[in-house]
Amino acid sequence: MRLILLGPPGAGKGTQAMRLVEKFGIPQLSTGDMLRAAVKAGTPIGRRAQAVMEAGSLVSDDIVVSIVADRIDEPDASNGFILDGFPRTIAQAEALDAMLARKGMKLDAAIELQVDSSKLIDRILRRAEEARAAGHPVRKDDDPEVFKTRLAAYQKDTAAVTPHYRASGVLHGVDGMAPIGEVSASIDEILAAHA
Ligand code: AMP
Repeated sequence: MRLILLGPPGAGKGTQAMRLVEKFGIPQLSTGDMLRAAVKAGTPIGRRAQAVMEAGSLVSDDIVVSIVADRIDEPDASNGFILDGFPRTIAQAEALDAMLARKGMKLDAAIELQVDSSKLIDRILRRAEEARAAGHPVRKDDDPEVFKTRLAAYQKDTAAVTPHYRASGVLHGVDGMAPIGEVSASIDEILAAHA
């Protein structure tokens, strides 16, 4: 099963990805997590990405495409994967198409979590509050001002990725404002056709 989760920051992609990892036994490939790990480890990529991420802007396509290309080649991704937070631009989507075509692989589905962007700020503030209450570190880019920049980046560059997958016939929309259980059930129903 090769899946892409689409939708703005705060739409619930991470939550659904974690659940699908359990259900299908395939890894979640989150470019955000990979970049945060690179920043933490102080690698050359991490040093290049850090300021851009803290500002809520997009890291360059060449950096992100190269980390995904390496990650997809790892043995645990050979039976499938869930891409979370990638592709975020048309150039990334085209690079992914080329990467998969070279390997003779194809995508099963791109699932878009559709949300009301005016409600996302509340959701992200809650996420920060819950992390704080649980004693977990709060992501710097969940600061409301930075979050607005992330949403703007989504609207400017990433929203255009949806039509790309609609055109290739793999796109499915799911109401991401529904309760988590309902979102999960809708996704499971879509994927049952591919399992
Ligand atoms: P996320 O955890 O997916 O919200 O990503 C956190 C941050 O990492 C984003 O705001 C971007 O700065 C960067 N990032 C993650 N994935 C990508 C991507 N596919 N393209 C460009 N930047 C990305």
